[in-house]
Amino acid sequence: MSVLVVGSTALDSIKTPKAENPRLLGGSASHASVAASFFAPVNLVGVVGSDFPRRYINLYRDAKIDLEGLQIEAGKTFHWSGEYEVNMNNRQTLATELGVFEHFTPHLPKKYKAAKYVLLANIAPALQHHVLDQANNPKFVIADTMDLWLNIALDDLTKLIKRVDCFVLNDSEAEQLTGDDNVFTALKKLHKMGPNYVIVKLGSHGSVLSSPRGHFICPAYPLEKVVDPTGAGDSFVGGLIGYLASSKGSIDANLRRAMVHGSVVASFCCEGFGLKKTVKATKSLINQRVKQLEKFTKF
Ligand code: AMP
Repeated sequence: MSVLVVGSTALDSIKTPKAENPRLLGGSASHASVAASFFAPVNLVGVVGSDFPRRYINLYRDAKIDLEGLQIEAGKTFHWSGEYEVNMNNRQTLATELGVFEHFTPHLPKKYKAAKYVLLANIAPALQHHVLDQANNPKFVIADTMDLWLNIALDDLTKLIKRVDCFVLNDSEAEQLTGDDNVFTALKKLHKMGPNYVIVKLGSHGSVLSSPRGHFICPAYPLEKVVDPTGAGDSFVGGLIGYLASSKGSIDANLRRAMVHGSVVASFCCEGFGLKKTVKATKSLINQRVKQLEKFTKF
């Protein structure tokens, strides 16, 4: 089964205490699509400008990502720049230049409309709604978000949460949305807003799922060195939905293993700038880390 991924396709300029890398391939949909592509065919919907480097188109193609839904418009590609503090957890946005992203309307090519697995990666909730309006009866829809939308599009976001099967956000966003700084009580409140499945991401501490079958605490793969965590959350959710789309059986039965696979793909993302290390991962390297995580957490 293929996965439909809609989100931002960007050029990222990233500064860490050790290095600086301009105009890397980034964006929520880029990270999520490449992550999902390890497990399932991916259809990508996004927008880039005429300045978008050819080598990045080739990178999508190498990952066998279908690009019929990638709009190429006259103008500049969305450019985001950020800087990490020494602990590599705290990040400041230095600049956001919207370019062609400002007037982006996601359009689903006919063959994408029947997608059963839909990932609404981080973009404005109004655009996430627009994608759902075009999709014909998807089986499982995941939506991710960011603090910006809690600040400027709360109404649209609250309505979106009611329309999805699984809502994913990080711990500070969960606190902002529910007013509750306890992950477990925040999860209860988030369920009351609509979705059957809620996942709170905890950065290098992994993630917590709340589902009809109860909770699951998913570890992050322990890394000794983090080079650039940009896109780790997108890689997690991309790997997760890709794994689900490739698995037989019910969502309930597969979701926990899907989270572990997402967590492992995210670990590769953190080991290099942008997508540099993610694209070097293979199914067999992913499976090795999944096995190690299994050992680390079995008792
Ligand atoms: P993460 O590290 O998972 O929070 O995701 C970082 C990615 O989000 C970067 O690759 C950025 O290009 C992308 N990004 C930053 N700001 C926005 C925004 N306002 N809308 C959509 N994507 C964004």
